[in-house]
Amino acid sequence: MTNFAYRLFSFIVFLVSPLVSQTDSVSLSENLAMGIPSAAVSTTTVPRNYLMVKPQFVLSYDRITGIPNWVAWHIDSTWLGEIKRSNNFRADSTLPEQWYRVHQESYRRSGYDRGHMCPSGDRTNTQNNNSATFVMTNMIPQAPNNNQGPWAALEIYCRELVLQGKELYIYCGGNGLQGFLDSGRVQIPERTWKTILVIDAGTNDLLRVTSSTRTIAVIMPNRNELIKKNNDWRSFRVSVDSVESLTGYDFFSHLSTTIQSSFESSVDAQ
Ligand code: MN
Ligand code: MN
Repeated sequence: MTNFAYRLFSFIVFLVSPLVSQTDSVSLSENLAMGIPSAAVSTTTVPRNYLMVKPQFVLSYDRITGIPNWVAWHIDSTWLGEIKRSNNFRADSTLPEQWYRVHQESYRRSGYDRGHMCPSGDRTNTQNNNSATFVMTNMIPQAPNNNQGPWAALEIYCRELVLQGKELYIYCGGNGLQGFLDSGRVQIPERTWKTILVIDAGTNDLLRVTSSTRTIAVIMPNRNELIKKNNDWRSFRVSVDSVESLTGYDFFSHLSTTIQSSFESSVDAQ
């Protein structure tokens, strides 16, 4: 199924490729080079697993929960620059016209942050790329202690790895349900998760992943009572397999099952 979804995805990219510049069509497939986690498709008949492909990141949106199921992106040094946070939180105008659009005020006075999945800080090479991360389809309600604490610390750590000569493939999202905001239109996840693949910067990335490639996975509580701002992100590490069991998604599915079963079963200890 995952293979089929990817072929469908590639076909959609092929269909839209005349509409976008050469650079853009390269980055469309870039973010999902390691595989698509679920069989998301860009048709309104699949409202709970609606594929949204952007040059900066790719996501599966759920019309019912009002948040992404997962967001996927690649980061290497070419994405990093001097651009400051755009802070232009806004509804995603590319959602189907008849669907409710979660907007910049939807999270107001909820006690939850508008938490970026693909971070603003991972897209600082151009104004347009940074601004793209502020659409509400890239947000989930995040407890401040999660978002501003260990979650943010892990984001910073990832960018440090890039500055040290690595490139990363990242998936993240929320899981579970602890409440609603915006009159029930947005669900607050019980926890947040992230899976990261780390390789040396280079070309032909798929061919360079081995059984011993480093992966980092975390599951963090999304309630202020259960997580502290100064908690070490490392204390939330689990195996990729644990996140796959929790979510039902298959990460890094473009790699052989032998390679996946090796690097997905271990917990990062670096
Ligand atoms: Mn954040
Ligand atoms: Mn997998």
